[in-house]
Parts: sequence; structure tokens; C-alpha cells
Amino acid sequence: MEELSIKIENCTNLDELESIRVEIFGKKGILAAEFGKLKSVPPAEKKDFAKNLNDKKSALMEIFEAKKSTLESQALEQQLKSEALDVSLYGYEQTKGAIHPVKDTMDKIIDYFVSLNFAVESGPLVENDFNNFEALNLPKNHPAREMQDTFFFADKNLLRTHTSPVQVRTMLNSDIPIRMIAPGAVFRRDYDLTHTPMFHQVEGLVVDKSGVVSFANLKAILTDFLHYMFGDVEVRFRPSFFPFTEPSTEVDISCVFCDGDGCRVCSHTGWLEVLGSGVVDSNVFKAVGYENVSGYAFGIGVERFAMLLHKIPDLRTLFEGDIRLLEQFK
Ligand SMILES: [Zn+2]
Repeated sequence: MEELSIKIENCTNLDELESIRVEIFGKKGILAAEFGKLKSVPPAEKKDFAKNLNDKKSALMEIFEAKKSTLESQALEQQLKSEALDVSLYGYEQTKGAIHPVKDTMDKIIDYFVSLNFAVESGPLVENDFNNFEALNLPKNHPAREMQDTFFFADKNLLRTHTSPVQVRTMLNSDIPIRMIAPGAVFRRDYDLTHTPMFHQVEGLVVDKSGVVSFANLKAILTDFLHYMFGDVEVRFRPSFFPFTEPSTEVDISCVFCDGDGCRVCSHTGWLEVLGSGVVDSNVFKAVGYENVSGYAFGIGVERFAMLLHKIPDLRTLFEGDIRLLEQFK
């Protein structure tokens, strides 16, 4: 019996302990065999024999249970150690995406005009001279072509300098009335604080029978649009020049940075120029074969709007892909 208790004590893992349990306490184990001898013990000694054996069994059980609980807690400790988290390790960072401010602003602009039943049209980025210039009252050698520094291809095609060629394409392919916007990327050879070689415009065009749409409609719709975009701002229409509209007007809002008091952003004028518009020049209608119609058009610089809405000082940061800027728009 002594060697059995030593065997239990020396056991080092639960599997081994289980086979020891079977060996000692099992149905065909050592103790069962000992109890089997009881039959052949003389009656006078039976009681003592049985008591002795039961005592030994209890003692062994006690040692066994103690060993079992020690090994179990050791195993648990081992398991916890192996599953422990090293909190000093870097985890996998979960980042949340955000819509780019230019795309977000573009969507907002599109939503407004779609709600007024404007169709959303699109056209190719590579245009021909007719659609980009000639049909828009910019004949060859017209000095106003200089206003737009153009990227030309060897075959005389070009990267569109504005979204206005989509107007031309739409008018060439459909009848009046037309209510459309053309959002998209445009390209010019220019790079500084407020210019990048690629930027986005939303062009708008409304054409109907002569006399149906007027400058007053243009003024009303753009004033409402600017209130939708910028809230409670003052809106001012200022005479200007664009080859494709006559009369032409540039539209200003009271400065969103200083509420019109005058600051560095508005060059201390209290006003910010936000878009160009006008009544469509009759030469444009002539170029696409329209007669007895009238209409108005406007062009919105999407980046300009995004900068004003989010108070971004340098246009170029919108295209640098710096995650620190983009993360601010989550
Ligand atoms: Zn200002």
C-alpha cells in the first residue's frame, strides 16, 4: 500500500493519474482484488480485515483526490498562461471609411437639382474642339480660349476644360424642353493654392420654347440652391463675361468665414464668388440647330464649394490623399 501512495504522489499529469485510478480503484483493480480475498479469511478475522482494507482505501482515496485537485489547478494555470493576451502587442486596427469631401459635396449638389427634376447627364473626358469650344461660341482664335489653359492631344482632341460640352451633346441629341445637370471632372493646365490640373464641375442647363425660361428663373433657382448649400447667406448677382452666355453673371455669397464683415479669405470684401451663370447665347443655340428657344446655364466648381463648406484653405490638400485630412470627414 505504501508504494501505491508513492505512485500517486509521483504522478505528474492527469492522464497518468487516470490510469493509476483504474489500476487501484477500478473494478478489476488492486483494491477489488484485495476485497476479493475477504471470502477466504477466517470468520473471526473478517471484521478486522475488512476494516483495515477500508481504512487503506480511504487513505488512498484521500491522497488521490488531493493529487487530482493539485494537477487540475496546475493544468488550469498552464492553460491560462498559454492563452494569455500580450496587451503590449499591436492589434489589427479597424478603420472606418469616409466619403471624400469632393464626392460628398458633388452628391449634395446633385441631390438638389434631381429633386427639381433635372436629368443627370454625362459625357467623355476627351472631347473634340467643336463640343468644348466652337459650339459654345468660342471660335478658333477667339481670345476667350485663353481663359482656359487646355491639355491638347496630338490629334487635336483635348481633355475637356469644362463640363459644358455635355450641354452641347445633350442638345444635339434631344429636343426641348431640357433640364439637365452634368457633373464630372475637368482639366486645365494650372496649379496653385486655388487651382489643380483636375477638378470637378456641375454644369446646369435649362432650355425651353422662347420666352418660357428667363433670367428671373435662373436667379430664383440659384438663390434657393445657395441657401440650400450654405444656409442663411446673402446672394449677389454681378455682371460678368462668359462666351457662351449673354448676359452673363457671376454669383457671390456673403463670406461664410466672416459673415460679410471682411476677412483674409474674402480679401476683405465680405463676398465670395461661388459660381458663373447666364442666359444662353443665341450663337450656342445656332451651333446645335435650335430655333425659337431660350435658356439659362450655370457652372458650379465642386472643389470651391467643398472648401467653403468644410473651411479647407488649400485646394491641393483635397487631392493629396492624406489620411489625416480625410479622417476628419468621418
Ligand atoms: Zn470673409
